Amino acid sequence: MVSYKELGLVNTREMFAKAVKGGYAIPAFNFNNMEQLQAIIMAAAETKSPVILQVSKGARNYANSTLLRYMAEGAVAYAKELGWEHPQICLHLDHGDSFELCKDCVDMGFSSVMIDASSLPYEENIALSKKVADYAHQYDVTVEAELGVLAGVEDEVSAEESHYTRPEEVIDFSTRTGCDSLAISVGTSHGAYKFKPEQCTRDPKTGKLVPPPLAFDVLHEIEKKLPGFPIVLHGSSSVPQEYVDMCNQYGGNLPNAIGIPEEQLREAAKSAVCKINIDSDSRLAMTAAIRKHLAENPSHFDPRQYLKPAREEMKKMYIHKIVNVLGSDGKAE
Ligand SMILES: [Zn+2]
Repeated sequence: MVSYKELGLVNTREMFAKAVKGGYAIPAFNFNNMEQLQAIIMAAAETKSPVILQVSKGARNYANSTLLRYMAEGAVAYAKELGWEHPQICLHLDHGDSFELCKDCVDMGFSSVMIDASSLPYEENIALSKKVADYAHQYDVTVEAELGVLAGVEDEVSAEESHYTRPEEVIDFSTRTGCDSLAISVGTSHGAYKFKPEQCTRDPKTGKLVPPPLAFDVLHEIEKKLPGFPIVLHGSSSVPQEYVDMCNQYGGNLPNAIGIPEEQLREAAKSAVCKINIDSDSRLAMTAAIRKHLAENPSHFDPRQYLKPAREEMKKMYIHKIVNVLGSDGKAE
């Protein structure tokens, strides 16, 4: 048993309370390799933003769970080395799908876990989420649960169709599970293909596809039912067109990749939404930069030659999200 406190990590309780009050959101960035982690920590340290490092079940399988834990511990030391005196870094399990997986993460030094039982019937979702919360709270680890179903694919998580969270259920659900935050479904979805072109309208000026807006009416109803309670948005990459174009220009094939417009995320961050999950944008930034570098430098074969610009591109993207979308800069001096 390793406590996250020994690793210098923090849980989400205080960062969420401040974010809800302050009208901003904490970035939750997924990582599964060193370059992503370096870019996240450099961006958070430079902007003094609290940050949530997210690890999915797929990332654990990819990178090895022991290694990931030491990487998170290393991230705290690295942040201090970069001059961030009191780093607020949370290590969070993204989409835990069983009690055993959540328990394993709590026991291995995670400071926060998500139990995603949203595909189960309502009462079973409550029972499993409560079981995880009861266990995690013994060790002061915070728990995110999910109500409502998001469309799209993210590692193991996939659903054909989404259905919005029902505001009339949120009080009962949060009270009976004891969860610390609630992931809801209001129109975001996982992956880089969030909407089909036929779901979108076309901007007459730019000719670009515009996705349907998020269901802010549902979000505000949930806020009214649970005043001050931390709300989480999954699947909130904006899928920047410049990265999609860069991928396609240098040999990629990403037709009709569509994300959530940043203006809408900015608006959500001002509400009770205090954690915004971003994964695809990092994948796109990294791949776009690598494709460009290799296309322009066909003789290069040292991974550092193409991973360095990839890391720079991700760092730039993370800083942009922190400063211009979530508003969490300067909140962890
Ligand atoms: Zn998710």
